[in-house]
Amino acid sequence: MQATLTASNFIDLELEYGAHDYHPIPVVLESGKGVYLWDVEGKKYFDFLSAYSAVNQGHCHPRIIAALNKQAENLTLTSRAFHNNKLGSYMKYVTNYFNYERLLPSNTGAEAVEAAIKITRKWGYTVKGIPNDKAEIIVCSQNFHGRTSTIISFSSDLGSKTNFGPHSNGFVTIPYNNIKALESVLKTHHNIAGFLVEPVQGEAGVYTPDRDYIRKVKALCSKYNVLFIADEIQTGIGRTGSLLAVCGSCSCEGHCEQQAKTFTRPDVLILGKAISGGTYPVSAVLCDSKIMDVIQPGQHGSTFGGNPMACSVAMEALEIIRDEKLTQNARRLGELFRLEMQAYIEKSYIVLRVRGRGLLNAIVINDSQKSNTAWNICLKLKEKGLLAKPTHGNIIRFAPPLMINEDQLVECIKIITSTFKLFEP
Ligand SMILES: *Cc1c(COP(=O)(O)O)cnc(C)c1O
Repeated sequence: MQATLTASNFIDLELEYGAHDYHPIPVVLESGKGVYLWDVEGKKYFDFLSAYSAVNQGHCHPRIIAALNKQAENLTLTSRAFHNNKLGSYMKYVTNYFNYERLLPSNTGAEAVEAAIKITRKWGYTVKGIPNDKAEIIVCSQNFHGRTSTIISFSSDLGSKTNFGPHSNGFVTIPYNNIKALESVLKTHHNIAGFLVEPVQGEAGVYTPDRDYIRKVKALCSKYNVLFIADEIQTGIGRTGSLLAVCGSCSCEGHCEQQAKTFTRPDVLILGKAISGGTYPVSAVLCDSKIMDVIQPGQHGSTFGGNPMACSVAMEALEIIRDEKLTQNARRLGELFRLEMQAYIEKSYIVLRVRGRGLLNAIVINDSQKSNTAWNICLKLKEKGLLAKPTHGNIIRFAPPLMINEDQLVECIKIITSTFKLFEP
């Protein structure tokens, strides 16, 4: 029956039977391999979104799919009422990989952020000694940490929060990339348990802070005995040209991960998206035992969290990042991408600037946030065989899978610049 449906049939089905919670680019995808996606009409595309940086390892990576299939034949879910033979070795592997003592497993990014908030608050009460129910967490304006009712309470995006109140208390918002604002809140508020921050603000439009921002954040958090919580759900796992974006934030620019580990190591690290290569919902909170051990049996949990499928898939996905040197590839090709874009921008009216780190980049279109220029550019890119999506009206994010090679990237740069040309006055 499906073979007879056209792209517009599939789109109509979603419109008729689904919640209208997204406004997708009108393309109906059917299969993927590496950097490529194919739609139901057999048209081939370069994927320049990577499912919001979840598919860093490329679509349907054979090693990840093999791990998934093998595990699916043995055991899929036990719940945490019992042990399983994958969870322990997964926890050992991931804590080693990222240099932490403990891991709390969950499924989606938002769940991991929620868990990090709970851990931070409980640490605030039981370790730091904050009076009951007074703990506050500092967050940044223009943040994106997910869609739960607590998380949207501290969003500055009106669309995300209007009419979804009453909102949760206990969050103080400061401007991003502003060390003075952070220090002034830390000086004047005495019940701060943590500072939750994205090392690069992805959803906001790929805002990269000053090089020394994260290092200064870390120093201030230590000085005021406040947990530094990094949401690396989008930026982590090689995306920005270092294993974690916080590593690329000190002056070493990601070249000395050892040094970065001490100067910019978050107290609480939140991972999701690419930890499974976009194959399966996997997320995690990582921290040392003096923080994690505030959580005792019965105080947090998830039926699917830490299931053997998630563990098997995520271990393989992380192994691939190392084996295929995807972090290094992201760093090298990201530089090439921004260099070529910058060269185009010098003589462009329609493109204002390019910014980003590694293969997480954005182009700012010279039109208002309300205009549909960026949307129309994305439709044209789609026609030419490249999929990207605007964010905040006039920004287009370009984030291909990290296994893209130089020839492919050069081909994509040609598609992108020749599309821009069509929109020049
Ligand atoms: C995607 C994202 C989330 C939310 O992850 P979900 O899996 O969609 O719940 C949280 N924080 C950041 C920085 C993200 O990019």
